[in-house]
Amino acid sequence: MTDVSGGAPDLVCARCDKPLEMRKVEASYLGQTFPVDLPCCPSCGFVYVSEELASGRMLKVEQALEDK
Ligand SMILES: [Zn+2]
Repeated sequence: MTDVSGGAPDLVCARCDKPLEMRKVEASYLGQTFPVDLPCCPSCGFVYVSEELASGRMLKVEQALEDK
């Protein structure tokens, strides 16, 4: 584990070893596409999605669909 001394923890691309940048990307779930801000690698385009975020998003999308 890297020692994080103050500030937000920096996410680094495991492949390129470059810091990830917040980018607006399109996530899709159940055929629906929606914009979401996620840390992306500027070099290879890797998008970091934490399991927490992914499950939270999916839950929200499912609820939205059921409401209709
Ligand atoms: Zn990368």
